[in-house]
Amino acid sequence: MKLHTNREKYLTDATTTDQILKQYLKRHNIDTIDLWNIKYNETTGRGIYATEDIPLNTTIFVDYPLILGTRYSSNCKPLCTVCFKEDVQLIQCAKKCGLPLCSNECANTTVHTNDCNVVREWLEKSSHESFAVWSLNLLRALTAIRGMELSPTDVEVLSLLQGNQSAQQGAEIKLLKLLELKIPKEDEEFLLSTCQILDTNAFESIYESNTKVSLRGLYPVSALLNHNCSPNTTHLFDKEGRMIVKNTRFIRAGEEITITYTNLLWGTVTRRHNLYMTKQFWCHCNRCMDLKEFGYPLSALYCTDINKCDGLMLPKVISNDISVPWVCTSCGKKSSSKQIGIFQSTLSAVVNPYYSDTVENLIEFLQNRIDLSIPNCNQLIVDLKLRVVGILGHRSGYLFNELSDHLLEYKEKLCREIINIVEVLQLGENKMKGFLLQELYLTLMEKSQRRNEKNTKEVTYVKVAAIKILRGDCRLMIKD
Ligand SMILES: [Zn+2]
Ligand SMILES: [Zn+2]
Ligand SMILES: [Zn+2]
Ligand SMILES: [Zn+2]
Repeated sequence: MKLHTNREKYLTDATTTDQILKQYLKRHNIDTIDLWNIKYNETTGRGIYATEDIPLNTTIFVDYPLILGTRYSSNCKPLCTVCFKEDVQLIQCAKKCGLPLCSNECANTTVHTNDCNVVREWLEKSSHESFAVWSLNLLRALTAIRGMELSPTDVEVLSLLQGNQSAQQGAEIKLLKLLELKIPKEDEEFLLSTCQILDTNAFESIYESNTKVSLRGLYPVSALLNHNCSPNTTHLFDKEGRMIVKNTRFIRAGEEITITYTNLLWGTVTRRHNLYMTKQFWCHCNRCMDLKEFGYPLSALYCTDINKCDGLMLPKVISNDISVPWVCTSCGKKSSSKQIGIFQSTLSAVVNPYYSDTVENLIEFLQNRIDLSIPNCNQLIVDLKLRVVGILGHRSGYLFNELSDHLLEYKEKLCREIINIVEVLQLGENKMKGFLLQELYLTLMEKSQRRNEKNTKEVTYVKVAAIKILRGDCRLMIKD
């Protein structure tokens, strides 16, 4: 198999890209194609633009995965390659192709027959003809293998997408070779292109199986959304693994529709550097160009003149040059980027162990010790707080009915605090805010139950706000 011969032309041809993608969505019975079109400009390449004014919280489009499979990461959990069930006994098919399956029922599906045919062709050319047990390496390479199964029309869709050649050079191929599979040269070339396209464009997808499983999906329309650090959309996944892209604020006709490629609760310095390292561009969005990050400086550190000044330090100017000095916003003291780098590594070394520490120690650290060296607004602290929000109410031993009144109050406080950050950063009605509202609602419900109180107006408001944002998402836990 080969990518489409017109690939080079497609990468700059907005009209053809628009047509092919809209036909692709129609083939999957998706009709959300009216609110947007694809345009091209020299600086950002192809992008998606609103064709009319779009009110807040509209589904702008639903995207269907061209390829959906497992995550490549080395801690990829064992799961069935057909129904994606985790925590089940895994078996092989009768032909012993090495792909894990949960049952004969899954083995007899077209999905498996297609996977099986690709792998067995490579297996038959090798010295061994079958696998004794199912293989984790094969599972980790599954998403790339599925590229081999695309129909010619779907290969044309794949060919529309950019593939970054400086990204990893087909790590999945190395895994397959470790298994001593004999992959013909032409297949290997196609696999490499697929891997590069996946690395550049794939999303983490959440799929509802017996648990909510984290997968890797190639969503061809969403792949064309350009990045912004306060994007105007958020995306959710429905039970079929389709991606729903909704706007987090009002969008004017002609405005570009954007998404984020990075962590929105990282500070500007980290975000820009991360985007440069992973996506090879320096972001110049409004948030990146505002030193104080719309009033919530997640990068900020305490003034290095710690005995005399309690001001915050930030880079002197926005720059692509990482050697720019930092300056105290209160006393004007300067520090070299080298000093700041050392300071940041020290702080990370203080904070990182808490990710694997007990919940008690983590909370104790957040409540009593942070003001010693790290400002409350720093991304390291915000991230730990987000982690606590995720644990309290959900981890065994910390379920809602097991929480002390004190921890329940603390969870409420953290939810409100981070919702406020999301608002200050102008992230709009995004998924993170939806989840925080959901957590706040669950906390307030537990509180009122304990006190035997009726729900207040606020509780109802929080519930409605959470559902409004998360409607359609397979992780929405609140019933209407
Ligand atoms: Zn299964
Ligand atoms: Zn098989
Ligand atoms: Zn930016
Ligand atoms: Zn100072």
